[in-house]
Order: sequence, then structure tokens, then C-alpha cells
Amino acid sequence: MSLAVYKTRADLQAQVAAWKAQGHRVAFVPTMGALHAGHLSLMRLAKEKADKVVVSIFVNPTQFAPHEDFDTYPRDLDGDVKLLSSVGVDAVYAPSEADLYPEGAKSDQEAGAAAAGLESAFRPHFFDGVVTVVYRLFKAVQPDVAVFGEKDFQQLQVIREMVADKGLGIEIIGGPIARDEFGLALSSRNAYLSEGELEIARMLNQVIFNVAQGPSEERLAEAEEMILQAGFDKVDYVAYRPEWKRVLVAAWLGKTRLIDNCSAQ
Ligand code: AMP
Repeated sequence: MSLAVYKTRADLQAQVAAWKAQGHRVAFVPTMGALHAGHLSLMRLAKEKADKVVVSIFVNPTQFAPHEDFDTYPRDLDGDVKLLSSVGVDAVYAPSEADLYPEGAKSDQEAGAAAAGLESAFRPHFFDGVVTVVYRLFKAVQPDVAVFGEKDFQQLQVIREMVADKGLGIEIIGGPIARDEFGLALSSRNAYLSEGELEIARMLNQVIFNVAQGPSEERLAEAEEMILQAGFDKVDYVAYRPEWKRVLVAAWLGKTRLIDNCSAQ
């Protein structure tokens, strides 16, 4: 049977309600599509945690600023659906903007304390857009469990906080970062990189894994220098968050912004 793609919240809800009536536990993995092996690892994790897996594919306008890459973000619904069939996903929710934002695309949720600093210092609109869309997606899908990647580590904390604050009763699971053979964190935005940029991008993980062995102000400053020397054009941040025991980085290679993180000692 081919994988069902639901374009409207009403159709999806009818399917999820039928599964729940049969006693099935439902897992949910939100994505923006342009799927790669990192996404698929989350689908496999979701399958271990529930009977049915729903994946959403939606490039969310409210988390992009006007100067960011919303228009050029890679989109390939047919290719994505093929990949999702291969890992046994049960339903795809690929809503139109009007289905998710009938009153127009605007953030109407505020992210909590976990959103402070790091990404927010450079993308101040970002986490309000993320919690707005994830809250709407949670309402549409009504999952028992949802899986998010540690690749977006701050985002994972923001979602955990939202679910706790709103008492949504959804179990949130973080999936480990999938990397290529050189340690580069897989990302849909890696598709923007030229061959030369790809080589440079592969240094990023080495630098943060090194700092993570004993993060200090001095080593973080050195790390920033090393990232620039490797050929990156700008470092937004390379920082240690003791409450998460994580070193996190965001840096620019030409027009492409890459993020990564790793656990620290
Ligand atoms: P995206 O569509 O890229 O916004 O990501 C959808 C989900 O996949 C998010 O929870 C991401 O954190 C997660 N994700 C993206 N890249 C990776 C990766 N390399 N490893 C694990 N999870 C990832």
C-alpha cells in the first residue's frame, strides 16, 4: 500500500482518531522536508516508540525572517514521500499554509526561557515561529510522543519547555545527531554547499569536539579563531551551556549558515 499523504488537518485527524480508537500509540516527527539520513534516523526511533508514525512536511514561514532562505529552502515532496515509505512511516501530513495558518502566517506563541541567547541572539523571530508551528502541528496530530533531533539542541529544549508549560502530555524524545563519514552533521542546508565549502564545513565538528573535552573561555575563543582559519566567513557563536553540558556553534560559509553541537565533559 502506498504511503498516504494528507493535505488537510481534517483528513489527518480522521485517520489518527481511527488509529487511537484501535488502541494504537501515535508518534510524530515534524520536518521541513528535503529529507536526509538524519531525518530518517528520527523516523526509525519514532517507530520504536509507537505503533503508528506521522511525519509532517512543512516549510514554516513564521520561523524565517524576510532576509532568510524561505523561498530557496529545498523542497521535494515526491522524493521525501519515497524515502518515508522506505522506513515504514504510516502517514505524511503536508499541509498548505492556509490549512495551518487560516488567519495568515503569524507567530502567536512565545518561546520560553530556553530560547534566550544563542540562536535567538541572531534569529530573534525564530523560536516564536517554531513554537507557533509546533503547537499547531501538535493540535492537528495529537501525538502521544514526538521526536526531535539533537542537531537543533536549543530547539529541543524550547519544545520540552513548551510541552511542560502548557501541560500537553506529549512525551518528547531527542534523537542523536546523524553525521557523514567526516563528522559533518547532516542538514538539508548542506545541499547549498559547493565541493570546496563542504571540505571546510567538515572542520566544524572537529573544532567543537575538541573544545568539548574541557570547555573554557580561552578554548572557546581559540575555537572561534580555528573556525575562521578553516575558511568559515563568520562565527555567530561558539558557546558552552553548562545547564545542558553542551558546546554549541553557528557559523557562516558564504551564504550558508551551519549549526552543530556536542556534549561536553
Ligand atoms: P528540519 O526539517 O531540518 O528542520 O529538521 C526536522 C527534524 O530533524 C528536527 O527535529 C531536526 O533537529 C532533525 N534533524 C535535522 N538534521 C538532523 C541530523 N543530522 N541528525 C538528527 N536529527 C536531525
